[in-house]
Amino acid sequence: MKFSQLAQYIQKIEETSSRLIITEHLATLFKNLETTEIKITTYLLQGRIAPLYEAVEFGMAEKMIKKAVCRGLNLDCKLFDTRYKKIGDLGKTVEEFKKEIKSLDEKDLSIYEVFESLYSVATASGAGSQDLKINHLAHLVRNLDPLACRYLVRIPLGVMRLGFSDMTVLDALSWMINGNKSLRPIIEKAYHVRPDLGFIAELVKRQGVTNLKKVLPTVFTPILMMRAERLPSGKEIIEKIGKCAVESKYDGFRLQAHYSRKKQEVRLYSRNLENVTFMYPDLVDGIQKEVKANEIIIEGEAIGFDPDTANFLPFQETVQRKRKYGIEKMAKEVPLKLFCFELLYKDGKSFINSPYIERKKNLEKSLKLTGDAAKDMILIAEETITDDTKQLEILFEDALSKGLEGIIAKKLDGIYQAGARGWNWIKFKRSYSAKIEDTIDCLIMGYDFGKGKRAGFGIGAFLVGIFDESKDKFVTVAKIGTGLSDNEWRTLKTQSIKLKTPKKPNQYEVDKAMDCDVWLLPQTVVEIKADEITRSPVHTAGRKLKPTKSGNAFEVDEPGFALRFPRLQRFRDDKRAEDITSLKEVEKMFKAQFKHS
Ligand code: ATP
Repeated sequence: MKFSQLAQYIQKIEETSSRLIITEHLATLFKNLETTEIKITTYLLQGRIAPLYEAVEFGMAEKMIKKAVCRGLNLDCKLFDTRYKKIGDLGKTVEEFKKEIKSLDEKDLSIYEVFESLYSVATASGAGSQDLKINHLAHLVRNLDPLACRYLVRIPLGVMRLGFSDMTVLDALSWMINGNKSLRPIIEKAYHVRPDLGFIAELVKRQGVTNLKKVLPTVFTPILMMRAERLPSGKEIIEKIGKCAVESKYDGFRLQAHYSRKKQEVRLYSRNLENVTFMYPDLVDGIQKEVKANEIIIEGEAIGFDPDTANFLPFQETVQRKRKYGIEKMAKEVPLKLFCFELLYKDGKSFINSPYIERKKNLEKSLKLTGDAAKDMILIAEETITDDTKQLEILFEDALSKGLEGIIAKKLDGIYQAGARGWNWIKFKRSYSAKIEDTIDCLIMGYDFGKGKRAGFGIGAFLVGIFDESKDKFVTVAKIGTGLSDNEWRTLKTQSIKLKTPKKPNQYEVDKAMDCDVWLLPQTVVEIKADEITRSPVHTAGRKLKPTKSGNAFEVDEPGFALRFPRLQRFRDDKRAEDITSLKEVEKMFKAQFKHS
């Protein structure tokens, strides 16, 4: 397919906010693509040239992209800038100029040719690479039609957000085959094990859904991590899953480690599937020494631990290891241990569908540990198997007394539910407040300028939301204006600079009363503590509207969920926007308040 045809599909998608219509457009596009094109097209639709977990950067700032455009159009940069200032959208500015400058002969490049050139842009490095990047992009601008140019430049600019998530793409793959979303669950299951949209799309296009069950973990493709359900007491845990393995809930950060002896390589992935290997050379070294297998995927929680005193370090200290600079020095100051609790794959065999006890038994067999916590970098998360409520409560208290967060109870025959929050793991955490036991992970959607002291930070209050999966939309639960330290306000401001967007993103559902001075793209995740979940007509989480009597407008039929006394607990840059608390979970927490009060 030609890139210009793809641009027409993208335009249709951009012009609607209806998820169903987007799904249908994507499905038609997928149908019309060659099998060999679907993989790269899926990446391009996300503004990328590789799956999300591969950190491929184009390495072109806006200034450099403008330079490439002007070179491609034979245009004076000042002229371009004047128009750009007026339009405010780089893509549309290029498009306008292309419409006016007729003298350029366009070649109507294929999607493949555009992908190849963008790939060369991203991989060019070293001396002369800047010029090479500019030339590649200039060549594309010269050869593509106006609409195609609009979308082309948005790719290296990193602003290709088309307002749909990976899940809509999975729906569209189902639609491509069946004309409805019925195949989404089976496609999604495979995606959780191999979260590479391009790979999944090509497989479905090639073979339908019959072979999706055979999609197994593979080293160096991170698996979407399993998550835990929550219950507020030992009694309820035993009632729910009976005899279970109880482990401490370590308060560090989760890592998925992939290792290949043949390649002599270890890769570490964070909760949001980011490759964070470079941050933890000590863990990489430990894994290379302490793993017995040739190939393995294991998971654990990395936490600062003092083997002399058997004391865990508080999260605030452990978290200092998440950094881009000064890594070696910090590794000495805050030594880590990886408390391993999962084996997902070993030497050609997938363990994700094996019962928990079998995974744990094989995990222990896969490591050569001395048993001396001072020497080993990997420690196995200790477990106690019990069906006694009292013992479970004691283990919980014991974990708290060690400064840990609580416990995780694991169903003995439970499989590893990649990417899902299921009852095979149940977390039981310390209750910080009388009403809600857990914190809520929210997305920062926008902010208002501050008055008074906070005017100095440029942010006075910020709007946070949760995810409504049924609508594929972010919906609001609170506007937060207090409780942040000066440093946290500053962090928020710095993180927000890159994420500013002139229009409210399509995926945001916000009541007028909650409009923001500045909108932000969906990226910053924060953990919010609140006293209670209440109901409010101005928040859109779970809110239902009905037409007014006149039929000309809508009024609130059922108010939304809102947080009472919300305060920032911490920034969760290990989580993606898709990982935040869902509306379903908040609904459950809302109901649980009545049960326990
Ligand atoms: P929370 O905000 O409660 O830490 P989360 O949203 O980060 O939870 P959950 O799946 O809800 O993720 O809770 C499980 C998390 O607890 C895991 O992601 C992991 O990081 C951590 N954890 C600590 N100890 C264990 C353990 N023994 N087994 C499994 N997970 C553990």
